[in-house]
Amino acid sequence: MSGKRAGFVRQRRAMVDACRNMNALGINQGKSGNIGVRVTGGLLVTPSGMPYDEMTPADIVFMRADGTVPKGQREPSSEWRFHRDIFATRAEVGAVVHTHAMFATTLACLHKDIPAFHYMVAMAGGDSIRCAPYATFGTQGLSDHALEALADRKACLLANHGMIVVGETLKGALALAVEVETLAAQYWRALQIGKPVLLPKAEMRRVVKKFATYGKQPKD
Ligand SMILES: [Zn+2]
Repeated sequence: MSGKRAGFVRQRRAMVDACRNMNALGINQGKSGNIGVRVTGGLLVTPSGMPYDEMTPADIVFMRADGTVPKGQREPSSEWRFHRDIFATRAEVGAVVHTHAMFATTLACLHKDIPAFHYMVAMAGGDSIRCAPYATFGTQGLSDHALEALADRKACLLANHGMIVVGETLKGALALAVEVETLAAQYWRALQIGKPVLLPKAEMRRVVKKFATYGKQPKD
């Protein structure tokens, strides 16, 4: 299939594993999610419409940074545009995870941001997880909206669609995707019984700062 592009074996394998994990982790429905990983000369992106259990590392598509794909590969995910654009504009990002997780998507269908109802919202980089306006899947418009909603953030919702999470590593992006879905489920539940009390902006700034050093050991 993509024998000519057999490079990046480790990354390809990690992407296949991550795809299969997404449903087990409860952050995706069917084969709707997709993953992008930055590599030298461009990005790797999951193929279009392929069941995860049939996907092999060779099916992962190498795409140049300009969005073109060398011949002899599968069709890239229809959402390749936002993967390409995120890597082009966010130097710190090494991996992008997009899913239609149940609760995140439920809130996105109401065009709801996730506000600072819980301090863990700061894991996504600020005092909210924004919901990007609706645009047709696979379009440049959707990518443009997503980039805007992701400004200073590591996650956003996509109206009537799903969520995007970015990370320095694929492992980090997946973990944050699980966290965002957990927050979405908690916020959804809280909304059922009342009006969640939101944390003040100053407190969220404090938590964002704490997370910047959280889990990092002092120099040894
Ligand atoms: Zn999607």
